[in-house]
Amino acid sequence: MSAPELHPGDCHLFEAAGRRFVYLAPSAAVMALDDTSAAVLDAIADRPRSNDELVSDLASSHGSQDVTDSIGELVRVRALLPRVAPPPKVPRVLPLQPIPVSTMVLNVTNQCNLACAYCYEYGEDKIVQTENGRQPKWMSEETARASVDFLLRESGRSPHLTFFGGETLLNFKVLRYAVGYAKARAAELGKSIDFSLTTNATLLKPETIEFLADENFGVTISIDGPQDLQNRFRVFHNGQGSYDLVAPRIKALIQRHRSRPIGARVTLTRETLDVRRIYEHLTTELGFWEVGFAPVTSAPGRDYAFDDGFEPVLEAFRDLADDYREAAVAGRHHGFSNVRETIEEIHKGASKAWPCGAGFGLLGVSTGGDVNLCHRFAGSEDHQLGTVRDGIDREAQRAFLDRHHIDHKTDCQTCWARPLCAGGCYHEAHTREGSTARPNLHYCEWIRGWTDTCLRIYGEIAERNPAFLHQFDGASHEAPQAG
Ligand code: SF4
Ligand code: SF4
Repeated sequence: MSAPELHPGDCHLFEAAGRRFVYLAPSAAVMALDDTSAAVLDAIADRPRSNDELVSDLASSHGSQDVTDSIGELVRVRALLPRVAPPPKVPRVLPLQPIPVSTMVLNVTNQCNLACAYCYEYGEDKIVQTENGRQPKWMSEETARASVDFLLRESGRSPHLTFFGGETLLNFKVLRYAVGYAKARAAELGKSIDFSLTTNATLLKPETIEFLADENFGVTISIDGPQDLQNRFRVFHNGQGSYDLVAPRIKALIQRHRSRPIGARVTLTRETLDVRRIYEHLTTELGFWEVGFAPVTSAPGRDYAFDDGFEPVLEAFRDLADDYREAAVAGRHHGFSNVRETIEEIHKGASKAWPCGAGFGLLGVSTGGDVNLCHRFAGSEDHQLGTVRDGIDREAQRAFLDRHHIDHKTDCQTCWARPLCAGGCYHEAHTREGSTARPNLHYCEWIRGWTDTCLRIYGEIAERNPAFLHQFDGASHEAPQAG
């Protein structure tokens, strides 16, 4: 019987700083390759070869013992497979104990003073019907109090409370009430609680700014860039653009609130894809510390949707990511948060069975007090996991986690990017693929392309300035922001 042939394994090869690396999907580890291992992987890239064939082909250049040792090591880490085989199943282990809530996103209103055409809450793709009267327009103090009690009951020692809308600050009264109540109750229970919010910045008045600074809020501002890009979609109900109102208010906030970095969150559309110009305006002109970009979530066929694929987004991201890499190598800050978040996950060896914390450690609460997967599903009966008054429906939560485990996403099981993607955002999948349980197969090329870019940046930093990566050794430095 002939010796079994060796095939490329469950991994992704890349190059950075003139060195070869491999990202190993089963362990989510990055491994630098020596010349012999790289030669072995190159040799099987065009066709499978047996152990003996590899040794005989490479012995003269690398030495037969080194080749044999390298093959052994590559088989051990599954970068080489003795046959074409599906990757091992991720065991579908569901938590036996109730899962503590680490972040609760409180939708204090579902109303907004802007009318952004692409908005998932109001636009053509909305999933929650607020008109049927089931969800109140405004969260009451009583519901805010019940929500805080719920969070403090279900959390560990240091929960995050994030406020969201509609436009969050339209219900500043209840937000302020919830903060006061949460601080007092947390102190009684010996817990520490951290606050953040997402806002469109239109209502950042001096009193609000003082409050956010005094309470040390993490603030994320939804903004799409300089005047012409911001005013393309982020308009008031009468069609007037919002840039001239928000720009001075953002500057005033950044000037006053210095204890935590203020971040911007940009929704990219086919018509507003000038990533570099947006980034430079938001950091240099307005003073943001970090800027995160997300392609718009939309069903196909919308004017602003990326119906022809995400290649233009990837190109624009790569261009700005080069700047991040150079800054990191020189030990300087760069505020492109999409890179920072991904290399942090790579550094920590993230390997996900679920794409995000939704329905797990992160829950969204609707204006009426329903507990949902996350803020984007707040108020959706089809994505409900309990109420703040009755608590989490553990059976529904377990069924959700079971049904959405990566083990059920057949297409993802042979994908090297699965440790970081795990099928992608449930809301995106609901909108584009028709179900939260489906993987986002419409954007795989984009995810793999972006993950490859971030692996290269990670490898480059690891080679040229490894000390930069120490900032990612501990826990995440900011509470997850709603977007
Ligand atoms: S959705 Fe696509 S990119 Fe993400 S893990 Fe699944 S197959 Fe890979
Ligand atoms: S990734 Fe999607 S599903 Fe997960 S928390 Fe964010 S919006 Fe919700």
